[in-house]
Amino acid sequence: EDLFQVADLMQPIARRQKVSRVLVGAVLGSLFFEASTRTRVSFGAAFCRLGGSVCDTTGFTFSSMAKGESIYDTSRVMSGYVDALVVRHPEQGSVAEFARATHIPVINAGDGPGEHPSQAILDLYTLQREFSRLGKLVDGTHVAMVGDLKYGRTVHSLFRLLALYRGLKFTLVAPPSLEMPSHLIELVARNGHVVEVTPSLENGLRGADVVYATRIQTERLAGETVEGYTPEFQIRKALVDAVCKPDTVLMHPLPRD
Ligand code: ASP
Repeated sequence: EDLFQVADLMQPIARRQKVSRVLVGAVLGSLFFEASTRTRVSFGAAFCRLGGSVCDTTGFTFSSMAKGESIYDTSRVMSGYVDALVVRHPEQGSVAEFARATHIPVINAGDGPGEHPSQAILDLYTLQREFSRLGKLVDGTHVAMVGDLKYGRTVHSLFRLLALYRGLKFTLVAPPSLEMPSHLIELVARNGHVVEVTPSLENGLRGADVVYATRIQTERLAGETVEGYTPEFQIRKALVDAVCKPDTVLMHPLPRD
């Protein structure tokens, strides 16, 4: 919430109504070993808007990892050149490995099916702004999470972040093979929240204050087919009108399928 206050102050800078050069001379190292549009460009644009510079590599092909260099060595070498690293990598836990190898700040921009913390922070920021317009609080909210909850890292991070609030109800709607990992459900339930799992979109969305949908993470499925992910799974206006409230907030981290 402290970060959100700073984000509010920085809105005019993002819109170029104000100029800030607090990062003049600073260099961000941006290492994206997996596909990205929003996360990669938004980190880079934010750093540039504050007067800093960005050095980046994208994909394995254009880094020395293609020559077999380890995460440890890559991280050590990069930290000689840049002041902070933002890293996306297909393996869960890999960004923590980058961080362990260096003393500079390392930001997780997505570690495979693990976590996507910056997305969760901006989702919460968006939600709080929307709720303050609607006169609602995050405490006590009913959040429906829909789609690939097994491999979807954005929902993992958002689920954990929202669990820091009080008395939420979560309905988790996923095809049978793509359910939320049980250790996350246990963690959130231990924090005193109600967590219900259902394969039915209609039941899961009924009465929700927030619907957070995610795509099937096909790049993690290695050819497996997803049973039960039928067109009935799509979030259509008719269903939202029938089972949600007029002020239900619909969210998606994109890309949508
Ligand atoms: N852009 C998000 C991510 O990188 C969501 C997605 O790809 O489905 O995790």
